[in-house]
Amino acid sequence: RIAFVNGRYVPHAAAQVHVEDRGYQFADGVYEVCEVRDGALIDVTRHLDRLERSLDELRIDHPGERSALTLIMREVVRRNRIRNGMVYLQVTRGVAPRDHGFPADVRPSVVMTARAASRAKADAQAAAGIAVITVPDNRWDRVDIKSTSLLPNVLAKQAAREAGAYEAWFVDGDGFVTEGSSTNAWIVTREGTLVTRAAEHGILRGITRGVVSDVAATRQIRVVERPFSVEEAKTAREAFITAATTIVMPVVSIDGHAVGDGKPGPVALGLRAAFHDGVERLSA
Ligand code: PMP
Repeated sequence: RIAFVNGRYVPHAAAQVHVEDRGYQFADGVYEVCEVRDGALIDVTRHLDRLERSLDELRIDHPGERSALTLIMREVVRRNRIRNGMVYLQVTRGVAPRDHGFPADVRPSVVMTARAASRAKADAQAAAGIAVITVPDNRWDRVDIKSTSLLPNVLAKQAAREAGAYEAWFVDGDGFVTEGSSTNAWIVTREGTLVTRAAEHGILRGITRGVVSDVAATRQIRVVERPFSVEEAKTAREAFITAATTIVMPVVSIDGHAVGDGKPGPVALGLRAAFHDGVERLSA
């Protein structure tokens, strides 16, 4: 396996950053995960738009032209011979003597890795459906920035694993679901309307979430952006999660309570099947 580290393609096992990289010391960095499907980068434009927004919000310099970043992403995919999987891209503020304030002269660090993932395995998981648990949302109020500062997400995902679930949904102080630890959360109401929380500062504006909205529109499915409670989700007709790595994944249980008839629903499975009709592809 090959990784990209600050201008070089290096063997994955030997890929290293400096101990005083601010990503390492402060989680002072941002990232993207882009799906690779049939050798193509999926929705890379939208991912790079979001990357630039995250960088701008944290006042981290852009590490280079978009065209150069895109080229490197394609090269990392190619060198790792990935047909299906994902590419991970991380930009940190850079390497400087440890001090909380921004360093004066620093160049952002750029790291990329790629990994294969089995589509058959993911499809089998979607056919079975997944379980989620709920946990209090104890994150800061700028989770719209895709930063590498992910401790609450790490702890939530671990809690899910220990409960035998696939994902943990964060719940705000009013009992409303914000999003999953690494996914956006959706329900399908009795009337067949899709509901997902509005993308303000309280959730990450998922790329997959945006595409699913677009795909729903072409299928005459109504989408409403509003908060939904855990109670509403438990009694919804269907529920599902979205992310670049999972696409649309049906949720069949919430805190041990079956959703609908406890099986993946037709709306979620239909959106999963149609998802890639709505994406932009860039061959790697
Ligand atoms: N919310 C959070 C907290 C995430 O980490 C992710 C995945 N990076 C998502 C939502 C889904 O975003 P996307 O569809 O862009 O993968």
